[in-house]
Amino acid sequence: MVESVVIVLTCVIAIVVIAFILGVRPKDLPVPEPESPFQHLDERKAAIYENLRDLQFEYRVGKLSDQDYQSTKKDLQKELAKVLAEVDQLRNGTSHTPPARPAAPPRAEEASGFVCDACGAKFEKELKFCGECGKPMKVAK
Ligand SMILES: [Zn+2]
Repeated sequence: MVESVVIVLTCVIAIVVIAFILGVRPKDLPVPEPESPFQHLDERKAAIYENLRDLQFEYRVGKLSDQDYQSTKKDLQKELAKVLAEVDQLRNGTSHTPPARPAAPPRAEEASGFVCDACGAKFEKELKFCGECGKPMKVAK
């Protein structure tokens, strides 16, 4: 008795697992994960840090004058501050979903038009018979 319950349970679990794999995989694969805005900013931040490192290296080996080094460093630090501020803004913002776009306005044409099934003519008013081809039109209820 206990054995048959175990067998049934095992079968059920196997079916659920297979259904899960078959059901989830094709859904997940074609939809790439939406790119996080943080990723973009992180990449920029990393690039700036890299530039700063390069700059320091070039300055140390004597490729850059002190003035060039200072001004470039200031520019990079300004850029970095901007990126960090954006990251802060995103973190403190409502969420990391992009700003909601207003819904598309409903199409007035579809809402008010009456179309003849026979010839496709459109009329603003509901008609019993089509003004173009004279065939009876469906009256909306
Ligand atoms: Zn018609």
